[in-house]
Amino acid sequence: MADEKPRKEFIKITSGDMAQPFEWSVGRHGSKFLAELRDNKRFLGIKCPKCGTVYATPRQVCRTCFVEMKEWVPLGNEGTIETFTILNFGFVDPDTGTERPVPYTCIFVKLDGADTSIGHFLDETDINKIKIGMRVQAVFEEKRKGSLLDVKHFTTVSE
Ligand SMILES: [Zn+2]
Repeated sequence: MADEKPRKEFIKITSGDMAQPFEWSVGRHGSKFLAELRDNKRFLGIKCPKCGTVYATPRQVCRTCFVEMKEWVPLGNEGTIETFTILNFGFVDPDTGTERPVPYTCIFVKLDGADTSIGHFLDETDINKIKIGMRVQAVFEEKRKGSLLDVKHFTTVSE
């Protein structure tokens, strides 16, 4: 018994397949943002008229000033990694209903011209090759449908 090493074991129980199709509106701002990604491979932000904060993804009202925002501004397809995590444990992807193969890297990226960041994926999983502040750029899907996943992932930009 003394020679036995503790084992880490992940038990999975499968209860069967379940289809639960549903759809929802992403709203006026979300629709404009996603249509621009789909049709022109371009990110848009929305700017607060009072404090000047540029939000991406867009929202209707500034979270600080509580004023309505209507000024759309084009953003770069490049940005800076704000934070990241490398996932080594599979979760069910709500977009596909299946587990995303591990490992994969989630990042928050502040696009050029924006003051907030968006969550997405990075195509690098070596922790020694990822740094906060690193420059990245969006890689778009060939066929786009009006989803944040029209961006396949971000990739690092060599400087
Ligand atoms: Zn504001």
